[in-house]
Amino acid sequence: MSTQRPGPRPGGIDRGRRGLLLGRRAAVPPIHPPWADAAALRDLCTRCGACATACPERIIAPGDGGFPVVRFTAGECSFCGACATACPQPIFDTGRRPWTHVAAVGGGCLAVAGVYCRSCQDSCPEAALRFRPLPGGTAEALVDASACTGCGACVPACPVNAVTMQPAPEKPHAC
Ligand code: SF4
Ligand code: SF4
Ligand code: SF4
Repeated sequence: MSTQRPGPRPGGIDRGRRGLLLGRRAAVPPIHPPWADAAALRDLCTRCGACATACPERIIAPGDGGFPVVRFTAGECSFCGACATACPQPIFDTGRRPWTHVAAVGGGCLAVAGVYCRSCQDSCPEAALRFRPLPGGTAEALVDASACTGCGACVPACPVNAVTMQPAPEKPHAC
């Protein structure tokens, strides 16, 4: 299993000095619905809202300019494909992987501060999150980028909002 080591890159814990001191979350880039081509979305999306209405998880909402974005704070993606089916435009390509992002655990993680918490790990259906114990009762979260589907289940599971989705480094999970 290849794991991401701590550092300011996607798929691993951001233990940058500022993050550790301030517990700030990493910047969260907008996430389009799964399988949606970014260029096609920009050029062809009518902002009709059909994808959001179709989503049984209610995680799609209007973003900047009314274009649909996924908000994992509301739940996780089940990869049901309802959004792609509902869209009347040639925007979704279900023949490719749904996303290129993976989970990233930020410096606000409670485990970094020595507080026992494994909520994100417990929520992950792919066993893509694990913790490496460190001296002093702390631990670091490691994300297996090859196993992470980007489903977002770990995002609302975190009690301190330390988990975000970030662009995958290489070889993201293929669904
Ligand atoms: S695949 Fe299903 S759960 Fe995921 S965003 Fe689309 S409609 Fe929602
Ligand atoms: S269903 Fe298609 S056209 Fe309508 S808002 Fe969603 S992506 Fe845009
Ligand atoms: S996004 Fe989904 S698969 Fe990836 S670490 Fe979080 S819960 Fe696991």
